[in-house]
Amino acid sequence: MIQNPESCQWAQEPECYEMFGVYAESIVAVGRDCTNLRFPSLADHLKKCSICATTIEETLAFLDEISEEVFINEHMCP
Ligand SMILES: [Zn+2]
Repeated sequence: MIQNPESCQWAQEPECYEMFGVYAESIVAVGRDCTNLRFPSLADHLKKCSICATTIEETLAFLDEISEEVFINEHMCP
């Protein structure tokens, strides 16, 4: 099944889009398993929707970069 961004309601709803950020932050904080328990409907949707799954992965990569920067900064200061 081929999907385009217009075909996914989740990617268009600002509230859902915000939840992606919360979901990704939760993965960083408590891990994927716990996060899927906290957001069952989103977890279920991500299994079926490659558009939203890609968005989550991109958000995770972005959060990873930020946390690395924070880590470096913290350890540069005496
Ligand atoms: Zn979707």
